Amino acid sequence: MKILVINTGSSSIKYELFDMDHHVKLAAGLAEKISEDASVLKHEKVNKNGESVKKIEKQKIPDHRAGLNRIVELLTDPEFGAIQNKSGISAVGHRVVHGGEHFHSTTLIDESVMKAVRENVPLAPLHNPPNLIGIEVAHTVFPESPQYAVFDTAFHMSIPKRAYLYAIPMDMYVKDRVRRYGFHGTSHAYVAEKAAEHMNRPLSDLNMITIHLGNGASMSAIQKGKSIDTTMGMTPLEGLVMGTRSGDIDPAIPFYLSDHLNMSLKEINTLLNKKSGLKGLCGTNDMREVIQRIQTGDEQAKLALDVYTYRIKKYIGAFYAALGKLDCLVFTAGIGENNPLIRNLCCSDMNELGIELDNERNNNPAKGIKEVNSSNSRIKVLVVPTNEELKIADETKKCLLSQ
Ligand code: AMP
Repeated sequence: MKILVINTGSSSIKYELFDMDHHVKLAAGLAEKISEDASVLKHEKVNKNGESVKKIEKQKIPDHRAGLNRIVELLTDPEFGAIQNKSGISAVGHRVVHGGEHFHSTTLIDESVMKAVRENVPLAPLHNPPNLIGIEVAHTVFPESPQYAVFDTAFHMSIPKRAYLYAIPMDMYVKDRVRRYGFHGTSHAYVAEKAAEHMNRPLSDLNMITIHLGNGASMSAIQKGKSIDTTMGMTPLEGLVMGTRSGDIDPAIPFYLSDHLNMSLKEINTLLNKKSGLKGLCGTNDMREVIQRIQTGDEQAKLALDVYTYRIKKYIGAFYAALGKLDCLVFTAGIGENNPLIRNLCCSDMNELGIELDNERNNNPAKGIKEVNSSNSRIKVLVVPTNEELKIADETKKCLLSQ
């Protein structure tokens, strides 16, 4: 069984093709700057021995449909492809960012699902419209293959009211759907499953805090496999300090900025989403650069990292209290998987809480799942590489087989 996973952005299509019988990636790629003269398509075919053959094309991709058609040509190309023709694709799994309260799990896409995703556009104006374009285009390119939507929000639909309601007039929730939804659900769910497998215990027996630290960042408190709280809110702006997003701030700050600096709502939106976080604090949103600058004695970069890791630590405490009992902490995504210093700072001085890292294990650069806690640590601390695309393929397969 072959499953194609598609993640469509406003000017991009990211894709991965999986052989689900052997649980391996066959091909992957990214079409970027769609509709611009400088469009780029990077494609990679993965051979049986795990080596990859790469192809980069630099020619204008006029729109998403043309992009997906070219991707199909590459996937079926004798040299760079992995299948003979597109009917070899059993199903397509789409990443859809906002499912609102409609969707608690992966869903076969039909007209009613499209309508519901459209209704959620006001909640995710930057993400849901391109996701819808991706589905519409894929539907015409793969008319024979069923299409499934895997929602970033679905995993967090188990969060109870006390955690998802904001303390504002109830009508705002009931009529206008203002509540916390949470995102990165696919990643939190995936690493939680992998952590349980690693610990050789059923997920339903474990309480975890998963910490996804990429360009976007969020944490999830997971009780017996179900998300009971998360740091992102109605939008991905709430919670942790991120690459360019502020995370939590006093909600009165925008009023102050408007009154005292005459900033418009649009400017404040850009400020908090694009110019804040690490970038706002020290001028770069690339954590590797922050670390390099710290190594050369840069105080501003050091302060940015302090703010970044302190926020994570504070949420570890909050989620620990919410869970009551904690079995493991899981670090994942670009920063969480690759940076021992950040893991160290997030877990520092928490011996009394049962969290203690082992320096040697934490500094071991080996890839894959690893345990980085000391043997005294009551709580396991794991590094688990995330794989949102594989999780989307797994979910798609599960749904396809259950129908
Ligand atoms: P992601 O969104 O998961 O691709 O993560 C992107 C972030 O991971 C960027 O801020 C990168 O700078 C960061 N990153 C990748 N590798 C490392 C590393 N070795 N140390 C620190 N940050 C890293």
